[in-house]
Amino acid sequence: MASLKRILVTGGAGFLGSHLCERLVEAGHDVICADNFFTSQKSNVAHLLDRDNFELLRHDITQPLWLEVDEIYNLACPAAPGHYQFNPIKTLKTSVMGAINVLGMAKRCRAKVLQASTSEVYGDPEVHPQPESYRGAVNPIGPRACYDEGKRAAETLFMDYHRHNGVNVRIVRIFNTYGPRMHPFDGRVVSNFIRQALAGEPITIFGSGAQTRSFCYRDDVVEGIIRMMDAADDFSGPVNLGNPGEFTIRQLAELTIELTGSRSELVERPLPVDDPERRRPDITLARGRLGWEPRVPLREGLATTIDWFRSVRIADFRAPTPNY
Ligand code: NAD
Ligand code: UDP
Repeated sequence: MASLKRILVTGGAGFLGSHLCERLVEAGHDVICADNFFTSQKSNVAHLLDRDNFELLRHDITQPLWLEVDEIYNLACPAAPGHYQFNPIKTLKTSVMGAINVLGMAKRCRAKVLQASTSEVYGDPEVHPQPESYRGAVNPIGPRACYDEGKRAAETLFMDYHRHNGVNVRIVRIFNTYGPRMHPFDGRVVSNFIRQALAGEPITIFGSGAQTRSFCYRDDVVEGIIRMMDAADDFSGPVNLGNPGEFTIRQLAELTIELTGSRSELVERPLPVDDPERRRPDITLARGRLGWEPRVPLREGLATTIDWFRSVRIADFRAPTPNY
């Protein structure tokens, strides 16, 4: 049996974090979830509150936190464009100061620390599909920069703490992920399309819908994140985690209509500034080093996600709190 550990998950009440907490609690670990609930709500982890090995802290990761832990998963950061652009300065602070705070804790506790980075470090890529060696094409002064550059700076901090202080770090670059517990109002394409299709509202395609994304189901990504934390100590990454199945946004809209049985029409809206034209992970490294690859095809994962959207009361969800 694997040894039980004290584990901190920052952003642990979020879409990915809450599922990660569930997996770690089920494995018997002593789990601390720290979150400021900017883009999530307590209901995501309410079912874990009566577990002896789960603890919930309301904490903003831009502030130092003093805990004794063996492992840290650093997920705290708004992830959807509408959320991270809501207060871009705060987003950059969360990535950079959050990284410094968790790295300081890891250094003091000799803990392993994993950074949830993103395919956004590749910007609007000129190389396709994107391997980890590709250095990216990010506009440093555009509206997405607060997120992209924050995540890039966090990767830099992780590698410098590793090289200069011997901290045991891990970096995963997560590509577009979807699944149950996505925030219905996060503005991301999967949640928007499902919500619109179920309500019979027009499905908003930004631009022509020819741009592509590669969508990975939540459980596959969380499995990859845990495998990366448990990987050999000589492997810090970064490693891509994503599903190589690539779809145009229009194809996603059509599949959502088919699976929901909706009669919604497709409408075109302006393409946001710096919206990447295409994105697909090269997962050769994850296959080789982690023995990981996604298992859930889009059609199946989307059907499960639609079932979840049907099961919740959308009115119970609120837009991000303007609490800064
Ligand atoms: P999410 O918004 O559901 O989760 C982020 C969590 O962090 C939320 O619970 C939020 O309240 C919390 N948070 C935000 N700022 C905070 C702060 N200053 N202090 C403490 N908590 C804070 O998003 P998610 O999709 O679950 O993403 C989790 C992580 O994975 C993020 O770091 C994100 O950048 C990364 N990621 C996600 C995707 C994806 O497609 N979902 C893709 C790439 C990277
Ligand atoms: N998009 C869309 N309609 C929407 C929301 C998003 O066409 O209602 C597009 C968006 O312009 C982008 C893609 O879908 O090209 C993915 O957007 P999302 O915000 O989910 O993620 P990201 O752009 O960060 O990959």
